[in-house]
Amino acid sequence: LREHLQTLAHLPSVTKDGHEVQLAANINTVFETKDAIKYGASGVGLFRTEVLFMDRETLPSEEEQFQVYKQAAEQVGGNSLVIRTLDIGGDKQLDYYQLDDEENPALGYRAIRISLDMKDLFRTQLRAILRAGIFGKVKLMYPMISSVLELRRANELLEEAKAELEAAGIPYLHHIEVGIMIEVPSAALIADLLAKEVDFFSIGTNDLVQYILAVDRMNEKVAHLYEPYHPAVMRLLKHIVDSAQRAGISVSVCGELAGDPNALPIWLGLGITQLSVSVQSILHVKQQLLVSDMEACKQLLAKIMECTTSEEIKAILQETRRDRL
Ligand code: PEP
Ligand code: MG
Repeated sequence: LREHLQTLAHLPSVTKDGHEVQLAANINTVFETKDAIKYGASGVGLFRTEVLFMDRETLPSEEEQFQVYKQAAEQVGGNSLVIRTLDIGGDKQLDYYQLDDEENPALGYRAIRISLDMKDLFRTQLRAILRAGIFGKVKLMYPMISSVLELRRANELLEEAKAELEAAGIPYLHHIEVGIMIEVPSAALIADLLAKEVDFFSIGTNDLVQYILAVDRMNEKVAHLYEPYHPAVMRLLKHIVDSAQRAGISVSVCGELAGDPNALPIWLGLGITQLSVSVQSILHVKQQLLVSDMEACKQLLAKIMECTTSEEIKAILQETRRDRL
C-alpha cells in the first residue's frame, strides 16, 4: 500500500469531477520540507516555528531564525510557505524562559498574547520572516487571534519591524501576505469582521474544537468528549468558510481534522480547496481526493448540517467512504 501511495505523489491533486485542491504540509522543523516535497505537497501551509525556540538554552537570534526561514523558503521553491509566529504557552514550554504556572494554561498566557507582550521577541521574529520573504513565496500567520484589535496590534508591530529593516537598509518582502489562524471561538464568530483585514484564514481545528466544546485536548479523562464531528463544530466551520468566501479571501484548514480522510467530504462540501496536513497524511488524503466528487460532497454536507449528533455525522461519512472504495 505504501508504494501504491507514493505513486500518487506526482498525480495532479484534483477531485474526480476536476476541481483542484491544494494539499500542503504542516511542518515543525525545516528538515521536514524534503519529505513534504517527496509526497507532492503543494507547499507548506503551516510552519510551526515554536520548535525552533524549544530544546535549546537561549532565544534564537534574528540571524539564526532568518537562516532557517530562508532555507525553508528556498526548499519550498515556487510554492507558498506559511510561517506562523511563535505559539508557545499552553502545552508548549521553553526551557530558558519560565512561564508562570497557570490554573488554565489553554486559556492563559500563550501564542500571540505573549508576542504582543514581549514586543522585542516578536519584532525580532517578524524581521527574520520579512527578510526570508525575498527568497520564496513566504506568507505570515498569527496564532490564537481572538479579536480585531489583537490583529491590528500585531500588524502595528509588523510595520515597526519593516521600518527597522528599512532604516538599516536590509532587504525584505514589503508586501507580505498576512493571515490568521482561526482557532478561538470568538475569532470564528467574528470571521466576517476579521476577513476584511487579512489576506487569508487557516482553520486550526485542534484548538478550535477544544475551545468550542470546553474539552482540554491533552486531558485523557475527557478525551471521549473531544469530538471534532460535533454539530456545533460543523456550524462554526460553515460560518467561518462562508465569511471568508463572502470577503473573497482564501481559507484553508490546518488542524488534525484536515488530515483525517473521513473528513474530506466536509471540506469539499464547504467549498474548501486548500488543506494543510501532516507530512504523513498527505497521500492518504490525496487517495480520497482522487475518488471524490465535489458536487456529491455539497449534497452530503447539506445532510450533515441537519444532523443532531456526532454519531449521525460520522455514520454518514463512513458510509460515503465505503461507497467510494
Ligand atoms: C490547531 O490548533 O489546529 C493548530 C493547527 O495549531 P497547533 O496544533 O499547533 O496548536
Ligand atoms: Mg493551535
